[in-house]
Amino acid sequence: MKKNIKVGIIFIIILSLLVGGLYLILINKNEKLNVEERLNDIIDLILSEEIKVLSDSEEKKLEEYVSNTLKTSINNKVICKSYFILGYINANNLKYDVAIELLNKAIPLLGNIYNSEVKAHTYYELSKIYLKAEEYNKSTAFFHKMIEVCEMEDIRDEIVELSIDRCNDLYLTPGGLKKSIELMEETLSLARELKCTGVVDAYYKLGVLYDYDNRSVEAINCKLEALRISEENGLRKKALEINTDIGVNYLYVGNFNEAVKYFKKVISSELEDEAKEAETKSIALLYLTESFSSIGDYESANICLELLDERIYQITDRLKREDCIIYMCAIKADLESRKRNPKEALRLLHEAKSRFDEKGQIFFNNFDIKIIEEFGDGYYALADYETALKYHKEAQELAKQRNLVYLESVHNEKLYFDYKELGDEKNTIKYLEQNNELQKKIKNNQDTQYSQFLITKFEKETSMKKISQLESQKDIMNYLIIGLVIITVIIVLFSCFIFKKNKEISRLNKLFKNLSVTDGLTKLPNRRALDEYLAGNWSLYQKTYMPISFVMMDIDYFKNYNDNYGHPEGDKVLEEIAASIDASCRNSDFVARYGGEEFIIIMLNTDRHEAINVVQRIQEDIYKLNIKHEYSEVSDRISLSIGISTAYVGSAKDYDEYIKRADIALYKAKESGKNTYFHLGNDEKQ
Ligand code: GH3
Ligand code: MG
Ligand code: MG
Repeated sequence: MKKNIKVGIIFIIILSLLVGGLYLILINKNEKLNVEERLNDIIDLILSEEIKVLSDSEEKKLEEYVSNTLKTSINNKVICKSYFILGYINANNLKYDVAIELLNKAIPLLGNIYNSEVKAHTYYELSKIYLKAEEYNKSTAFFHKMIEVCEMEDIRDEIVELSIDRCNDLYLTPGGLKKSIELMEETLSLARELKCTGVVDAYYKLGVLYDYDNRSVEAINCKLEALRISEENGLRKKALEINTDIGVNYLYVGNFNEAVKYFKKVISSELEDEAKEAETKSIALLYLTESFSSIGDYESANICLELLDERIYQITDRLKREDCIIYMCAIKADLESRKRNPKEALRLLHEAKSRFDEKGQIFFNNFDIKIIEEFGDGYYALADYETALKYHKEAQELAKQRNLVYLESVHNEKLYFDYKELGDEKNTIKYLEQNNELQKKIKNNQDTQYSQFLITKFEKETSMKKISQLESQKDIMNYLIIGLVIITVIIVLFSCFIFKKNKEISRLNKLFKNLSVTDGLTKLPNRRALDEYLAGNWSLYQKTYMPISFVMMDIDYFKNYNDNYGHPEGDKVLEEIAASIDASCRNSDFVARYGGEEFIIIMLNTDRHEAINVVQRIQEDIYKLNIKHEYSEVSDRISLSIGISTAYVGSAKDYDEYIKRADIALYKAKESGKNTYFHLGNDEKQ
C-alpha cells in the first residue's frame, strides 16, 4: 500500500514537471515570435522612413523596447536586428559614435537574417554617418559595401534610391557639389538601365544639382525629362512638383513667359489630395504672381493674389501655411514697390521679416536675400537711395557668398540705379559696365551650355536613331527569317502534297494503263496492248532479221455454245481457253485477246515449223481440257481453228501485213472444216 502511494507521488511529480516544461517552452516560443514581429515592424518603419514622423517620446519608447530586447535575447537574428534599429535611431539623433559602434556590431551577425534591405542599410547608415563626420574614405568604403550587398542580393533598385540619398548628403559637404553631380550622373545611368521608378528622381535631382552649379540649361532639360517620364507613368503629384520647379528655373533666368506657362499648368490641374492640392497650387500661385509683376502685368498679378487669399488658408500643414504667408507678404511688397506704393511695401516687408525671424527657416530658398533686396527696392521707391544702396549691397554680398550667380546681374542693376540716383557717377559707370560684362558672360555661358546641350542631345538622338535603325533592321531580319521559314514550310508541305499526289496519279495511271491494256475477263493483254507492243518493238525486230510468227486463233461454233449453255458459261470457257493458251506458250511469246473469242500470239524467233509445233501443242492442250460442246459440228468438245503467218522481218513489211495474213490463214482453216490450223507462207497468194 505504502509502496503504491510512493509510486503515485513520483508519477504526479514527473507529470507536473513535464507539463510545466512544455508550458514554458510554448510561452518562450510565443514570446520569441512576438519579439521578432515587433522588431520587423520597427524595421519597416525605418525602411519606409515613417519613423521620422514619430514624436520624440514615441521614438524613445521604441528605443527602450529594443534595448531591453537586446539585453535579454540570445538569438543572433534578434540581436542583429536590434543593433541595426538602435544604430539607426542613434544616427538619426546625431549620436554618431554610439551609432557607429552599434552598426559595426550588427555587421558580423548579418548572415543570420534574411532581410536583404537591412543588410544594405546597415552599410549605408555607416557610410552616411562617416560622410557627416567628413571621413570621406571610410564613407566611400561602406557605400561600396552597400552596393556589393545590393548586387549580391539582387536589389539593384535599392542602389539607385540610396545613391540619390547620398547625393543630397554629398552636396552639403565642403566641395561636395562636383562629387554629388558625378554620383547623380552615374545613378541616373544605372536607373535608366534598370528602368526603375528612381529614374524620375534621378533626373529631377540631377537637374537641381545642375541648378546649384549654375548650369541652368542642363538643369531645365533634366527636369523636363523627369517631367516627361513622370507624366508618362501617371505620377501626377511628382509631375506638378517638377512643373513648378521648371517654372522657377525659367523665372530666375528671366524667361517670364515660359515660367508663366508652367505655373499655369500647375494651377489648372487637379489632385485627389485636397490639402496637397492647396499647398501645390499656392506655391505655383506665389511664383506666378512674382512672374506677372516682373513683366509689369500688375492686373494678372492682382488676380493671382486674390486666388492666393482663398487657397493659402486651405493648407492644413501649419508650418507650410506659414511659409507661404511669409512669401506672399514679400511678393505683395514687391508689387507695391513696383506700383510706387513704398509705404505699403515696407509695411508688408516688416510683417514678412518679423514672421520670418520668428520661424528662422522657410521652404523658399534664399528667402533672407530676397527680403533684404526688397527692403532696398522699397527704400528706393521711397527715394531713400542711401538706405536702398545699403540693403542692395548686403543682398549682393550674401548672394556672392552662396555663389548665386543668377542674382548677380539683378543686384548689379539695382546698385547701378542706386548710384545713379545718388549722383555717384564713378560707381554708376562701374556697375553699368560690370552689368554689361556680366550679361555678356551669362549670355555666352548660356549659349555654351545650350550648344553643349544641343550637341549632347544630337549625339543622343543620333545614337538612338542608329539603335532604332539597327533594331528596325533586326526586326526586318526577323520578319524575313519568319517569312522564309513559313515559305519553306509551305514549299515542303506543298512538295509532300504534290509528291503524294504524283504517287497517287502514277499509281492511278499505272492502274488505268493496266486496265486499258488488260482484258478484264481473261487477264490477257488486249488488242491495244498488242498494238503498243508491236509499234514499240517492230523496228528493232526488223533489224534483227529473226523469224516472227503470228498466230490467230478462234473458237469453233462459239455462238452455238453461248446460245445453248448461256453467256456466263461462255465466259468461263473463254477464261479457261485463255489460261490454257498462255500456259502452252513460251516466255518470249506475246499472247493477247484479239477480240470476242479470238486470240493472237506473236512468237519471236519462231519459224513456220516451230510455230506449227506450238500450235499443235495448243490444240492438244485444248483437247485435253475436254470442255463439252454438244453443239459443235466438228468435235464433241471446244476446239480452235488457227491461222499462222511467219514474217522474215528483213522484208521491211509492216506487222499489220502479217496479222492480216494470219487472219486469212485462220479463215482458210475455218473453210477447210475448223478444228485445224493453216499456215500462210510468205510466198503464198492471199
Ligand atoms: P465459227 O466456228 O465460224 O467461228 O462460228 P462462231 O459461232 O464461233 O462464230 P461467230 O463469229 O458467228 O460468233 C462468235 C461468237 O462469240 C458470238 C458471241 O456470242 C461470242 N462471243 C464473243 N465474245 C464473247 C464473250 O466475251 N463471251 C461470250 N460468252 N461469248 C462471246
Ligand atoms: Mg469469230
Ligand atoms: Mg468462232
